[in-house]
Amino acid sequence: MAASLLSRRPVVCLRNHPRLLVKRLSRELKCSSVVFRLFSDSSKEKKSTNEYDVVIVGGGIVGMATARELLLRHPSLSFAVVEKERDLAPHQSGNNSGVLHAGIYYTPGSLKAKLCVEGMDLMYKYCDENNVPYRKCGKLIVATDKAQVSRLDMLYERGQENGVKDLRMIGPEEIKDIEPNCVGLKAVHSPHTGIIDYREVTQSYGKTFKQHGGQIYTQFEVSQFQRTRESGPGTKTGLHHPVTVISRDNAKPRLKSRFVVTCGGLHSDRLAAMSGCSSVPRIVPFRGDYLLLKPEKRDMVRGNIYPVPDPRFPFLGVHFTPRMNGDVWLGPNAVLALKREGYGLLDISLRDSLEAISFSGLRRLAFKHLAYGLNEMYRGINIAAQVKQLQKFVPSLKVEDVIRGPSGVRAQALDDKGNLVDDFVFDAGVGEIGSRILHVRNAPSPGATSSLAIAKMVADKVEKTFEL
Ligand SMILES: Cc1cc2nc3c(=O)[nH]c(=O)nc-3n(C[C@H](O)[C@H](O)[C@H](O)COP(=O)(O)OP(=O)(O)OC[C@H]3O[C@@H](n4cnc5c(N)ncnc54)[C@H](O)[C@@H]3O)c2cc1C
Repeated sequence: MAASLLSRRPVVCLRNHPRLLVKRLSRELKCSSVVFRLFSDSSKEKKSTNEYDVVIVGGGIVGMATARELLLRHPSLSFAVVEKERDLAPHQSGNNSGVLHAGIYYTPGSLKAKLCVEGMDLMYKYCDENNVPYRKCGKLIVATDKAQVSRLDMLYERGQENGVKDLRMIGPEEIKDIEPNCVGLKAVHSPHTGIIDYREVTQSYGKTFKQHGGQIYTQFEVSQFQRTRESGPGTKTGLHHPVTVISRDNAKPRLKSRFVVTCGGLHSDRLAAMSGCSSVPRIVPFRGDYLLLKPEKRDMVRGNIYPVPDPRFPFLGVHFTPRMNGDVWLGPNAVLALKREGYGLLDISLRDSLEAISFSGLRRLAFKHLAYGLNEMYRGINIAAQVKQLQKFVPSLKVEDVIRGPSGVRAQALDDKGNLVDDFVFDAGVGEIGSRILHVRNAPSPGATSSLAIAKMVADKVEKTFEL
């Protein structure tokens, strides 16, 4: 603020008159001292008393993009990010397919469609400006039987409606030109789809955030939001920073904030419930297991090869995806995980499992899609069954060409009728504390691609809701 007040006066023409410049600066500083103190005090206080204008919970790609956007828009305010793990992007943002989606699949007019198309352009621009590597290797969505062709035609129409650039419908010959080992009746070719390492992107957002004065607290697991107690007679701390953000670890500082934004991924429902919001939509974790092509087989595919997705589910189906480090991942399937952050088959949390099983929404979903669920589980365990599925696209693929790879866990939001919540969901609590906390409750795929566009939307919402 002080800087912007100063810049309104013609300081530049005083460059050649240093004495005059010093005089003018000191007069300006006196004039703006009241406003200046408001902000300089708060940023100085922040260091000694852990007070912030906004605390963002969650150091995934959505939380970091939001923190960066807010700080760049409001450089005179103080911001902190709290993340429960040691590093940024430890969960969904660091364990995903790494595809920069073009926006083909999503219902025209939905936030998903709009934010993906906008987010992809923003991401490429961001990476060019900040030296984050990516590869525009393109993507084929391939119909392998007649029943899929009409759905593929619909996808192509959708892509056009969503404004995806340079989409083409191609036949078997052109499929072979683009991917020599791939077969199909028809395919949509998206040349601008790319691959990227979203963990690196998140770290890059974090770097900018810190360079501009943002503070990041890791190993800070928020367990509670509390009303700030006045620090003593005559102090105004509680009035200025009414929300105290408390860590599960008592040794961590208590952060006092004017406002809070949560981007908690797999824990977004629990964070929302902490501020008095409904626990529905509930987060149900779906693990996705990948296979890896053995190094000597990596040249089997050049770009992304995707199936025509089953419209009943939000997942895109098992696909071939090259990685930035040269690996090729095949997958992921989608099986109910027994732990929210359970990456292994045997990872079980009693609390998470009981909560999931006792939720009527999940029971209804399981009842509706039992056969699908069992099939996905079977393919998760049996590599040959998963390879058989992938051979529909690349018939030369053999079981001996693959090994087990990593896994990711999706935060799937579910309503109590068992419907999968497909689009982004925002929520705010009520009451003195709740109304100062905004929750990003559902940021599903392509949330990483869309992160910069989501951040703009969240920042707009924060400015409007909190009159920032
Ligand atoms: C298998 C898989 C494949 C995917 N593929 C793609 C893809 O190819 N392209 C794409 O665009 N998207 C993809 N996605 C989706 C994308 O990864 C997500 O949309 C995105 O990462 C969501 O980011 P987030 O910041 O909301 O969540 P997260 O990355 O999960 O971050 C949430 C953070 O909040 C922290 N947190 C939670 N509770 C607390 C607490 N109480 N206190 C402090 N911190 C807390 C967590 O530790 C975590 O770091 C995929 C996702 C998965 C799982």
